[in-house]
Amino acid sequence: MRPLTRTVLAFAVLLFASAPAVFASDKPVLACIGAKVYPSPTDPPIENAVLIMSEGKIVTLAPNNAAKYHLPDSATKLDCAGKVVVAGFWNSHVHFETGWDDAASAPSAKLEAHMQEMLTRWGFTTVWDLGSLPQNTLALRRRVEAGEIPGPKILMAGDIFPKNGHPVYLPPEMQLPEAATPQEAEQMAKQYMAMNLDGIKLFTGAFMGNKPVINMDTAIVKAAVDVAHAQGKPVFAHPQNRTGTDNALNGGVDILAHTIPTEGSFTGGELAQMKRQHSALIPTLTLWTTVVQDPKIQNQLVDAGVSELKSYFSEGGTILFGTDVGFIPNYDTTQEYEFMGRAMGWRDILASLTTNPSAYFKASNTGRVEKGMNADLVVLDADPATDVRNFARVTYTIRAGKVIYKK
Ligand SMILES: [Zn+2]
Repeated sequence: MRPLTRTVLAFAVLLFASAPAVFASDKPVLACIGAKVYPSPTDPPIENAVLIMSEGKIVTLAPNNAAKYHLPDSATKLDCAGKVVVAGFWNSHVHFETGWDDAASAPSAKLEAHMQEMLTRWGFTTVWDLGSLPQNTLALRRRVEAGEIPGPKILMAGDIFPKNGHPVYLPPEMQLPEAATPQEAEQMAKQYMAMNLDGIKLFTGAFMGNKPVINMDTAIVKAAVDVAHAQGKPVFAHPQNRTGTDNALNGGVDILAHTIPTEGSFTGGELAQMKRQHSALIPTLTLWTTVVQDPKIQNQLVDAGVSELKSYFSEGGTILFGTDVGFIPNYDTTQEYEFMGRAMGWRDILASLTTNPSAYFKASNTGRVEKGMNADLVVLDADPATDVRNFARVTYTIRAGKVIYKK
């Protein structure tokens, strides 16, 4: 054995052969043994791993031959042999809109079934609601946090629209907060902050059908951004077109919640400004297959979205996974992965689902499979390294050490 190999081995022993984990006997323990674990998008995988969770955290992660552990009889053992484990996924653009009425009083079995269908069976352990009825989403969130409905952590942004910018795809009778002046936007943003929402979403471009897009003035954007940023909270924009993108960026918005495929591409100036301001981009590529009937135009929009994604990703820009699910009826994420895979590698897509949102939204206990981190995990039945669509093949979704979805 060469000295270097010995050193590496000694290091491995130091890393993994610490004292066996001890579990408080009254706390539930969850174990997943025999999987291939990707601790992060950049780390090499751990084959045949022992992964043990207790009290909401990961307490042991080591190769099976190096792990010392003793599981209490009460531990729940998942069959993880042949499976692939990655950190729990974020979907940074969802809506609890269609089919989520009456979240405060609807039967929990009904809400659980819908939660599985829309989110947990696709591996989501944290989601951003970018606009629904805030009181309804907050009621749903309370019931999830109380353990009544197995579900992801829900973050919620409050919407602000431009004056006379009621998008054609929203029911005309729906009351929308429209800001005509910076003062109105400031008041609305303050109300959302007082409701303890987690961010703001601005319609810097509202789609009006056959009529021109209504854009939000930069001064109005900035007034809302200032309120959110004073509380350290992020601002998303629905840009719709180039003016909506530029007004969002000039007003200091953090995240573009969509690509802008009808414009064909971002300009060099936009890409440079996005990079300089550390903006994040949510591609929502599957959405572009739902906005027109003609399959040829759908393909053109998707191609433009992919090329915009690729252009910002190649500049080193931050990409966050998001699908607009709950607005679009396509719950299956397979197609989004396939589209994103045209612009990025599987590790970059994994980053958009895990480490990127955890860094961007300062949730440092999530995003990696590592001792001490929140036990938010996805157990996949196939390796995304061989096909990005395998990110959608979820066997278990685990949040805070509890199975919230089982295939
Ligand atoms: Zn949306």
